[in-house]
Amino acid sequence: MSNRRNYDIAFVGLKPGIHEFEYEINDKFFADYQEQDFKNCIAHVKLSLDKKNGFVLLKFEVGGKLDVTCDRCGNDLPLDLWDEFNIVVKMVEDPQVMNDQEEDPDVYYISKSESHLHVGDLIYEFINLAIPMQRMCLPEEMGGPHCNKEVLAMLKKLDAENNKPENPVWKGLEKFRDLE
Ligand SMILES: [Zn+2]
Repeated sequence: MSNRRNYDIAFVGLKPGIHEFEYEINDKFFADYQEQDFKNCIAHVKLSLDKKNGFVLLKFEVGGKLDVTCDRCGNDLPLDLWDEFNIVVKMVEDPQVMNDQEEDPDVYYISKSESHLHVGDLIYEFINLAIPMQRMCLPEEMGGPHCNKEVLAMLKKLDAENNKPENPVWKGLEKFRDLE
């Protein structure tokens, strides 16, 4: 289990201005959460915290890698993580009400009496958001080091035999064919 306290920042004691924090994240970090659809996560999160009067600006830079299951062939597919997230945390009297009303997903409210920022859940969320949407070997990677060649060859054959007339790519092209 990860120690969640490692992800609590006692921001009240910080001087105004920029402070930097670094986090090394691996699979253990995710043990506190529901089961993940990736593994072998090695992520580096750099957090820059800019303390202002009544609010803090947080910039998370997520880098690293993890393995997902390829949607096409079912093999482990290594993906790179690289993304950046900016959020504003404001200290207010009634954070519950404000959070319910706020429409900007990058603005959070916490109580004025709160002394710590709990960034663990944000790190969790941002690592998940940093995972590329496309969880598939690239077509040019067919037969590449990660792909399941047998499955891909079978899919390719099935595609050629069954899907040609209905293939949306061909359907789209037919329109142009009629124009000629
Ligand atoms: Zn694949």
